[in-house]
Amino acid sequence: MRVFTASLATETNTFSPIPTDHDSFLSAFYARPGEHPETPTICSAVFPVLRRRRAEEGFTLIEGTAAWAEPGGYVRQDVYEGLRDEILGQLQAALPIDCVILGLHGAMVARETDDCEGDLLARVRELVGPNVVVAAELDPHSHLTAKRVHEANLLVAFQEFPHIDFEARAEQVVNLALAATRGQVRPVMSTYDCRMIDIFPTTQEPMRSFVDGMKALEGQDGILSVSLIHGFMAGDVPEMGTQLLVITDNAPSKGDQLARELGEKIFALRGTTKMRTYTLEEALVQVEQAAAGAGPIVLADMWDNPGGGTSGDNTLILHALIKAGVTSLGVSSIWDPQAVRLAHGAGVGTHLEMRIGGKTHLSSGPPFDGLFEVRTLADPGWQSFVESRVTLGKTAVVRLVGTEVDIIINSNRTQTFDPNIFTNISLDPRQKQVLLVKSTNHFYAAFAPLAQHILHVAMPTGYPSDPVTAPYRKLTRSLWPRVAQPFKET
Ligand SMILES: [Zn+2]
Repeated sequence: MRVFTASLATETNTFSPIPTDHDSFLSAFYARPGEHPETPTICSAVFPVLRRRRAEEGFTLIEGTAAWAEPGGYVRQDVYEGLRDEILGQLQAALPIDCVILGLHGAMVARETDDCEGDLLARVRELVGPNVVVAAELDPHSHLTAKRVHEANLLVAFQEFPHIDFEARAEQVVNLALAATRGQVRPVMSTYDCRMIDIFPTTQEPMRSFVDGMKALEGQDGILSVSLIHGFMAGDVPEMGTQLLVITDNAPSKGDQLARELGEKIFALRGTTKMRTYTLEEALVQVEQAAAGAGPIVLADMWDNPGGGTSGDNTLILHALIKAGVTSLGVSSIWDPQAVRLAHGAGVGTHLEMRIGGKTHLSSGPPFDGLFEVRTLADPGWQSFVESRVTLGKTAVVRLVGTEVDIIINSNRTQTFDPNIFTNISLDPRQKQVLLVKSTNHFYAAFAPLAQHILHVAMPTGYPSDPVTAPYRKLTRSLWPRVAQPFKET
C-alpha cells in the first residue's frame, strides 16, 4: 500500500489588510518532503501519525510539502497556485498511490479562488482517479463546500475549541482512510447546513455536552465520525456557515438523518453558545476588584486575534490598563517587527524611547509610547500549542521604565496559546497582577489553571465579529443572525 500525505493550510480573513504572501508561509511553517519535524503543527498532525503507523504496519509513505501561514488576508493567487502545484507535482511523481491523506485548514481563500481546498481536492482526484481514497483533516473554522464533499471520501474536523484534539482527530482520519483503503469500511459523508454562523467554545455548556455527545456516537452503529463545522465568519465566501458532517459506513440515509438531527439541535442553540464577553469598562472594574495574591487576571483581546487574521498590534486595552494605574502587567504579545529590530539593535539592559504597536489597521489604536528597558531577547521566541511548537520569530521583552509592565514584542504574528510564551523568555506570568493576551479562545485551556479570572474583552477591531453588520459581498445565502428565519428565506 502506497500512501501520500501533504499539508497546505491557512485561515483567510478576507477583511484583513495583511496580505498572505510566500514569506507568510516561509516564516510561519514550511517543510519540504522529509523535513517535517517529529512534532505536529495544528494542521499537519497527519504526518507524525502516519510515520508511526508506517513503522507499525509497514506501508510505503510518501511525504509531500507541509506549509502553514499565520491567518491573514487573501492569499496571493500565484502563491496559492505555486504551493498547490508543488504538492500536485509531488503526488504525480509518486503515482501509483492507494490513499491520499491531507492536512488542511479549510478556510484558505486566494484572490481568485474562493475555495482553495475544494480546488486542491478536485485536482488531487483528477490525478489519482475515482477509486483512490482521498481524506483530509480540517479545522472546524472552515467552509464545508459541496465541492470538497464531492471530491473527498472523508473529511474529519477537530471537535474541540480550543483545538486541543488536533492529534486525536488526525488519528481518526488516518484510521478511517487506511481502513477504507483496505476495504474494511466504505465511508459515506452526510452533511446538514444549519444556515447560521456563531461561536462555539467547547470548554463550557452547552457545547461541552454537545461535543461529548458527538464523541459518544462515533464507533456505534456504523457511525464512523461526527464533526461540527463551526464556520468562519471572517471569510466572505458563498458557502460560509455552520454545518454538520457525519460519516457512516455506507449508510447514507442513517447519516443524513443524524446530521439533520444534530444540525437542528445546533440551530436551536443559536445565540446561546458563545463565551461571556466584557466591555473594556467592565473589565477594568474586575481588575480593580481582583483579590491580591490569587493569581493574575487574564484579559483576552479577543477580536485582535492574529489567529483570526488580525494584526495583533492593537493597543487600546494596554493604554486603558496603564491609565487605570496597573503597574504589574504582562502583555503577550504586540506584533511590531520594527520595534523588535530596535530592541535587538540596542541590546539587553539598554533604555530606549520607543513607540510600540498601533500601526497596521485603522482600528489598531495609537502607538504605545514610552521609555523602555530591553529585558530579554530571543531569536526565535516560541510557545507551545499542546504538542506543537509555534514560532514568534525574533522577539524581545521590553519593560516600561519605573513599572513592572513587561511587553513581549514579536516579529512573526501569532496569537497567544500557552503561558510558556512568557516563561520561555524569562517572565513569570504568575507574578503579574494582569496578563493581556491576544487570542479569542485557544489560550483558554492552558491559562485557566493559573488565572484568578479570565475575561474575554470585546473591543471594536477590524475583525467582523458581528455577522449582522459585516459587509459581506459574496455571502448571499440567508444565515442566522443576518436573518431571523433563514429556513424560510433563500
Ligand atoms: Zn479553528
